[in-house]
Amino acid sequence: MGRIEKGVKCSVSGCGREAARSISANKVKAAGLSVSSKEKRAFICREHYKEYKKKTKKDKTLEKWRWGH
Ligand SMILES: [Zn+2]
Repeated sequence: MGRIEKGVKCSVSGCGREAARSISANKVKAAGLSVSSKEKRAFICREHYKEYKKKTKKDKTLEKWRWGH
């Protein structure tokens, strides 16, 4: 999953960085990111991917204990 072409831009509105991943737009929206894509697939940059991961896994882990770096 997640292979994308070079030069594709992040689909999150207000972000113009180069995309690093493609994820189902619905999942991205469910994580609270606003996607401007009309397609089922959204492209997101590394920063937004991190944010997406953080939101989607916060139920499973107690990572806040590790924030002190
Ligand atoms: Zn982005």
